[in-house]
Amino acid sequence: MIKINQNYLKLRGSYLFSNIAKKVSAFTEAHPEANIIRLGIGDVTRPLTPSIIKAIHDATDEMASEQTFKGYAPDLGYSFLRETIAKNDYEARGCDIAADEIFVSDGAKCDSGNIQEIFSEDSKIAVCDPVYPVYVDTNVMAGRTGVFDEKTEQWSDVIYMPCTEATGFAPELPEKTPDIIYICSPNNPTGSAMKKADLQKWVDYANEKKAVIIFDAAYEAYISEDDVPHSIYECKGARTCAIEIRSFSKNAGFTGVRLGFTVIPKDLKDADGNSLHALWARRHGTKYNGAPYIIQKAGEAVYSEQGKAEIRGLVSYYMENAKMILDGLKEAGFSVSGGVNAPYIWLKTPDNMTSWEFFDYLLEKVNIVGTPGSGFGPSGEGYFRLTAFGSHENTKAAVERIKGLK
Ligand SMILES: *Cc1c(COP(=O)(O)O)cnc(C)c1O
Repeated sequence: MIKINQNYLKLRGSYLFSNIAKKVSAFTEAHPEANIIRLGIGDVTRPLTPSIIKAIHDATDEMASEQTFKGYAPDLGYSFLRETIAKNDYEARGCDIAADEIFVSDGAKCDSGNIQEIFSEDSKIAVCDPVYPVYVDTNVMAGRTGVFDEKTEQWSDVIYMPCTEATGFAPELPEKTPDIIYICSPNNPTGSAMKKADLQKWVDYANEKKAVIIFDAAYEAYISEDDVPHSIYECKGARTCAIEIRSFSKNAGFTGVRLGFTVIPKDLKDADGNSLHALWARRHGTKYNGAPYIIQKAGEAVYSEQGKAEIRGLVSYYMENAKMILDGLKEAGFSVSGGVNAPYIWLKTPDNMTSWEFFDYLLEKVNIVGTPGSGFGPSGEGYFRLTAFGSHENTKAAVERIKGLK
């Protein structure tokens, strides 16, 4: 008899984005003339850059010739890419990470969702609140989260680390001891980023408690401040407690191209001395057949001199939007954070409005769509996320409209 994995029955509905879509379509139906600006986009909008397009074309041509055709990719990634990553993302920043500690994949969502598989079912997870929903949901699927409390909107077996104005939008060391700690810095949704000294505290804590940190660095390219680490391996001792997940989506615009990687140092062991590196290699080799050759060549092009310059251009395009939003909202009297090391601006709703009340207010008054903070976790209530992924024109227009509100 068919019986599904019962953990899946515990999953909460994907209420956030479907509810936004519903509200927006109801509004446009009632007001067909409204010129809606979307500042809720969690996806890049700029096209791929010339050096990446060229790499894709060249690699495609290789596939057309008997001499250079490629079949299955090595399941852990081509060494040309793993070595390029090791050199540019790690060696250049003084991090001790070897090419064979880098596992190439089709993106950070898959990796951040799958990584929990290699840990014991009774591992305790700790997450920031608000948080990227993938971390909790994949642990729900794995049966690790206990019972959901409708009142507090929390899972009984999850350790929540509130990141609010009171904590400077950073997680504080939890009272209960976790086994797996998820940290995303620069952060989605709050746009905050941890300073190196703060991240070092977490690395020391994880080593002391023999816990593992899963560090999501998908927004690393947006860091503009000097004391914000680009990699957790800039911290002393991270090789024995940290896994790092990276993506080409937000820096190089690969959201529809698909490429990412996970770093697991060989020094990372469980309590019995089992190597997590070996375990992930085994898992990857069993369930994954490697990212496409053409796309890995595109990833290599991201690190060419021209590629790096183009990617800096993309990031600064979005960060000009971030600055426009940040400055504009401050001028309009809003309490705002983020937007300096990340393409996300996190604002406190005015007049004690709930996140959804403010959503309706912005949509109705100025036809702007953003994302209610409460959709990312209970501590997101009373906050609102705007993103810098729109065009300059729309962003500017949106900021003018918001300023006109006050
Ligand atoms: C966008 C994003 C990713 C990237 O996911 P991909 O699957 O590589 O596109 C990872 N983590 C966070 C927090 C994100 O916002």
